[in-house]
Amino acid sequence: MKRITLLVFATTLALAQSKRPLVALGGINHESNTFNPRKTDLTLFTRRDVPAEEFLRETAKSNSTTSGFIEGAKLYGFDVYPTFDTEAPPLGPVTREAFNSLTAELIASLKRAPRLDGILLFLMGAMVSEDYPIADAEIVRRVRASLDHPVPIVVVHDFHANVSEEIVKLTDALVTYKECPHLDSKQRGVQAAKIMAGILSGKVKPVQALVKPPMLYNLVFQNTFRPPFLPVTDESRRLEKKPKILAASVPGGYQWGDVPTLGPSVVVVTDNDPELARREARRLADMLYATRDKLALKLPDPGAAVSQAMASPRFPVALFDTGDNTGGGSSGDTTFIIAELLRQKATGWFVPFTEPEAAAAAFRAGVGQPFDMLVGGKADNLHGQPVRIRGRVRSLHLGQYFETEVRHAGRRYFDMGLTAIIEAEGSAPDLPNLVMLTTKPAIPLSIHQLTSCGIYPERMKILVVKGTIAPRPAYEPVAAKIIEVDSPGVTAVNPARFVFKNVPRPIFGL
Ligand SMILES: [Zn+2]
Repeated sequence: MKRITLLVFATTLALAQSKRPLVALGGINHESNTFNPRKTDLTLFTRRDVPAEEFLRETAKSNSTTSGFIEGAKLYGFDVYPTFDTEAPPLGPVTREAFNSLTAELIASLKRAPRLDGILLFLMGAMVSEDYPIADAEIVRRVRASLDHPVPIVVVHDFHANVSEEIVKLTDALVTYKECPHLDSKQRGVQAAKIMAGILSGKVKPVQALVKPPMLYNLVFQNTFRPPFLPVTDESRRLEKKPKILAASVPGGYQWGDVPTLGPSVVVVTDNDPELARREARRLADMLYATRDKLALKLPDPGAAVSQAMASPRFPVALFDTGDNTGGGSSGDTTFIIAELLRQKATGWFVPFTEPEAAAAAFRAGVGQPFDMLVGGKADNLHGQPVRIRGRVRSLHLGQYFETEVRHAGRRYFDMGLTAIIEAEGSAPDLPNLVMLTTKPAIPLSIHQLTSCGIYPERMKILVVKGTIAPRPAYEPVAAKIIEVDSPGVTAVNPARFVFKNVPRPIFGL
């Protein structure tokens, strides 16, 4: 303990004496699904209890935005001071208590910096708190108000940001992810660091413009590696090659936020050319708006999707359960697809559940013991009826794994809590029916969610995946086919399933 304190002290002293600018890194990240009645409280946010040096070393190994900040600092010549960095799994709006406490903690940790020349923040861009529909902007407003001398603030938002005018006004520059699935999380961190370095050296003076085409861009069509989104993303990349353009971002928006800022955005940051920023933002927004005729939603319901999967000539077929997108704020315990798998007597399937109660029951029973319990549909009344799962406990796991490949959002370490695998009735030795019960929500960003629990995805016939776009990099290498299912739930892709009260009309797609 003493050694760590000394080390922190020595590091702080070294940073205080360094001639290079010192930039604080921080972030409070939450994607808030305003249709999810379960609020996100303080207990759900991660806490980091490691010294700064260790945090920097571990983070640098990942492909996250913060690792991009760290790499950018090395490339462009400034020192970094990690402050407060936290996230919670997507769920309902953040409680007032959590929002106030986290923001205060960020500000307090900024105050502890030995010097402060700039701030790089990673904020999701779709956080809603009980008091603030545009909570990310409120964080930056409070940070700005707390500073005793003004410093530049550059923010990175996720691709699913519902970008607000407020945040564009409050930041010196805003950069958002370009890619969905998000494979460029780290690159955007590097890009933000480059802009920060330019401001600190006086070489650039960013000005930015935001244009929001009046539309909801359905998540199903937000794959930036395919049309209709791809040409607009490509154009934003082409634009960034121009000398005066510092960043051109086209985030798709987050459709489960009933907020005035709902929808896609174009943010163009130029070097002191406001007219160019406005003109190019308008042009890209028009391009995006012109894709409207390609946005008709036609997906099979759970019954049809299971039939299609069973009839497939090649396996495994991945059924993307879009209504229960755990990365989008859903409970991870819907039963609509498993009910169809059981009804249609499918075999060789895998279905994950966020199910702390059932996981605990499996741990109490032990490996090889019988299991008979109602599973799923417990979080709320939006996610189907519980289904009876009978079988035996096949294996029990710590639920931690890591990913070395570049996957959505660039995360390296995962923890789904104590996890049980149940072999359900109808299983054959070489073609089991497997139910995964996790204690914490699991977002399917890595195939090691399965392999770490002894499941060979390529030997299964049907893999149920709780997501829409984000799981693609993990599942495309193993799945013979991906079917997006129009399933009910709090992240149902069909907006007609929800009532939006705070979105200004008219707006395309609602
Ligand atoms: Zn996202």
